[in-house]
Amino acid sequence: KTLSRHFSATSFIMAPISKEIDFLVIGGGSGGLATARAASSKYGTKAMVIEGKRLGGTCVNVGCVPKKVTFNAAFIAETIHQAKDYGFSLQETAPFDWTSFKNKRDAYVKRLNGIYERNLANDKVEYVHGWAKLLSRNQVEVTLDDGTKTVVNAKKILVAVGGNPTIPPKIPGSEFGTNSDGFFDIDTLPKKVALVGAGYIAVEFAGMFNALGVETHLFIRYDTFLRHFDPMIQETVTKEYEHLGVKVHKRSHVDKVEKDEKTGKLSIHYKEGEGEGSVADVDHLIWAVGRTPATDGIGLESAGLELDERGYIKVDKYQNTNVENIYALGDVTGQVELTPVAIAAGRKLASRLFGPAQFSTAHLDYDLIPSVVFSHPEVGSIGITEPEAVEKYGRENLKIYKTNFTAMYYAMMDPEQKGPTAYKLICAGPEEKIVGLHILGLGSGEMLQGFGVAVKMGATKADFDSCVAIHPTSAEELVTLK
Ligand code: NDP
Repeated sequence: KTLSRHFSATSFIMAPISKEIDFLVIGGGSGGLATARAASSKYGTKAMVIEGKRLGGTCVNVGCVPKKVTFNAAFIAETIHQAKDYGFSLQETAPFDWTSFKNKRDAYVKRLNGIYERNLANDKVEYVHGWAKLLSRNQVEVTLDDGTKTVVNAKKILVAVGGNPTIPPKIPGSEFGTNSDGFFDIDTLPKKVALVGAGYIAVEFAGMFNALGVETHLFIRYDTFLRHFDPMIQETVTKEYEHLGVKVHKRSHVDKVEKDEKTGKLSIHYKEGEGEGSVADVDHLIWAVGRTPATDGIGLESAGLELDERGYIKVDKYQNTNVENIYALGDVTGQVELTPVAIAAGRKLASRLFGPAQFSTAHLDYDLIPSVVFSHPEVGSIGITEPEAVEKYGRENLKIYKTNFTAMYYAMMDPEQKGPTAYKLICAGPEEKIVGLHILGLGSGEMLQGFGVAVKMGATKADFDSCVAIHPTSAEELVTLK
C-alpha cells in the first residue's frame, strides 16, 4: 500500500494517502497552507497539502522569517554602535557570534516547521511529504520520498508552488556565487561579500552585512537601487548606503568570477561605467537578480495550464486559471510577491470555493498593498509613486507633500551618525485623496501598517490632518505636513 507521511511534533505516523480528495493543494508555503487550512477548518472540506521540502515555503525557511531575525541582529549592532552617544560605555570590539546566532535562527525556523505541521493536523488537513505532478484537470501524481507514486483524484486543485531565485546571468564563474537560499547557509561571519541585484533582497542583505561589520560590495546596473519605488526612496536610500560604507558599484556589470581553490575566496571582475575593476578575497557572492516561478516538472502541459509572457501561471482576479477546477495563487502567479498577499488571496479563495453563497464573488483586492523593505533605514510604501501619479492624474491634478528631517533619536549623535528620515504624500484631485504614501526612516516598517489602513479606506489629506499628532514621534510629521 502506498504510504503518506503525516508528521506530528511527537510522533511519526505512516498512514495511507487518500486517493480521493475535495481540495488538493500543491505547495506548503504561506499561500497553500492558508488556503487548505481555511477550506478544511472553516468549511469542512477534505483537503490535502503536498510539499516536497519543508513546510512554510520561502517565507518561513529562506525568506521573511530568518531574514527579519538577521535584520534584528543588524539593528542591535547599530544600536550598540550608537549607544555611546547616549552615554553608555560599551565594548564595541565584542565580536558578533554569527555561528551561534545562525544555529539559534535555524532552531527557530525548525520550531516553526513543527508549528505549521501541528496547525495542519489541528485543522484536519492531510499533509503529504512528496512531489506533485498534474496529470489532468483533476488528477495529480504524488511521488513520495521513497519513490513510490500514487495518483490522487481531486475535485479542485490549487497550485501554490511559489518561486526560486532566478538563475544568474551566464558569465564565467557565476556558479561560484550563491543566492538568497544560500545566504541562510552561511555559517561563519564573512569578512567580505559581494551582492548583485537592486531589489528587496540585494538591498536588505547588503544593509545587514554592512551593519554587522562585513565589507559589502553591491553591484547595481543603474545609478540607484529599489527602482520600483518612489524616486525619493531610491535616491535617499542609495545615498545612505554609500554613507554607511556599502561599496555601491553603480552602472556596473560583473563579467567574471574566479575562485581560489586553496582559500575558497572569490575575485569579482566587473565593468563600472567606462572603467573596470575587481574585488579580491570575497567570501561570498550572492546573486539577487529576481525570482522565477517554480513551474518546472509540475505537469503544466498535462493539465493544459497557460502561462503569461513572463512564465507565471495566468490567473484572473478570482485566482482561476484557464483550466476549470485548477486555481493558482502566490509567487507562481507573479501578482504581488508577498507572503501576506498569498495568504489573503488564499483565504478569499477558500471562502469562494467552499463557503456559503455570500462569498461567491470573494477575491483579493490587489490594489493598495503596503510593502516594506528592511533596508537601512527601513522603507515603507503604499500606492503609486510620484512619476506614476503624474502619468495617471497629470501634474496639475496632484499635490505632493514632502518632508525630510532628522529623527529625535539622532539628536544625541555626531552628525555622521545621523540617519535620514523622509516622507512623501501624493494627493490627487480637489479632495486631495492620498494615492501614494512613501516613508523611509527608523520605524517605518511598523508605522506603515496603520497608515496603510487609512489609505486603503480612501483617506484624504484632510483626514490625516484631522488626526492629532503624537509627540514626539517621527510619524507625527505625516499628519502635520504643509
Ligand atoms: P526584485 O524583483 O525585487 O529585484 C531584482 C532586481 O535586480 C531587478 O529589479 C533589477 O533591478 C536587478 N537585476 C535584474 N537582473 C539583473 C542582472 N542581470 N544584473 C544585475 N541586476 C539585475 O527581486 P528580489 O530577488 O530582490 O526579490 C524578489 C521578490 O521577493 C520581490 O519582488 C519581493 O516581492 C519579494 N521580497 C519581499 C521582501 C519584503 O517584503 N521585505 C523581502 C525580499 C523579497 P534594476 O533593473 O534596477 O537593475
